[in-house]
Amino acid sequence: MSLPNDVVIAIDGYSSCGKSTFARAIAGKYHLTYIDTGAMYRAVTLFALRNNFIGANFFNVERLIEMLSKIHIEFVKNEDTGKEETFLNGENVEEAIRDLHVASYVSQVSAVKEVRTKMVELQRKMGEKGGVVLDGRDIGTVVFPNAHIKIFMTADPKIRAQRRLNELLAKGEKAAFDEVYQNLLQRDHYDTTREESPLVKAEDAYILDNSFMTPQQQMEWFDNLVLKIFGKP
Ligand code: C5P
Repeated sequence: MSLPNDVVIAIDGYSSCGKSTFARAIAGKYHLTYIDTGAMYRAVTLFALRNNFIGANFFNVERLIEMLSKIHIEFVKNEDTGKEETFLNGENVEEAIRDLHVASYVSQVSAVKEVRTKMVELQRKMGEKGGVVLDGRDIGTVVFPNAHIKIFMTADPKIRAQRRLNELLAKGEKAAFDEVYQNLLQRDHYDTTREESPLVKAEDAYILDNSFMTPQQQMEWFDNLVLKIFGKP
């Protein structure tokens, strides 16, 4: 089974639904480029944290907006693992952007209109030639509203929190279920209620609830969707 060369696949959904795992698997199987848009918002958040633009009780939005032109984000393939890694101003921040500290502030940063405008522009440029799968919150609604395939992923919040906790523990990070669960509920709330491009299902998106699905079952679901949309090759 193959996809058109210029295919754009948009995967949106809640936090910790396994969107990036799924998107990576699709990219691998169908020889597409994977663009992790969440990583881009996380990188901006890391920049804001390091420069003290945001913290426990403050957020200097104006300073962040002023400094936006100084933020350069790119994905560079790690030749050993074959995985694309996130670079912020030339520094590999792939690990640093994944911790819970960054996760606690990313929804506030990603709610800023100017931040979104810059990221959306970059994402469109990265995906303009097609042959891409992107995951995020607004891909099918804002970034690529004409994407060939739109998927909206969801799963039970407790199951999502447990998966995220397992990931953090596997990396040796200290975290408790409740902390991860609360962060996830908070991010869901922020992401769905913000003014700028809130997380909503695109009308023409297919829903994938993977609460009780294995990665293999999700891929079968996707293969069937490809058949349904593009017919037999
Ligand atoms: O996908 P991930 O959990 O890494 O995304 C981190 C955060 O970035 C989300 O909680 C959301 O606030 C923001 N985000 C967004 N739009 C996207 C991707 C991510 O607002 N397209």
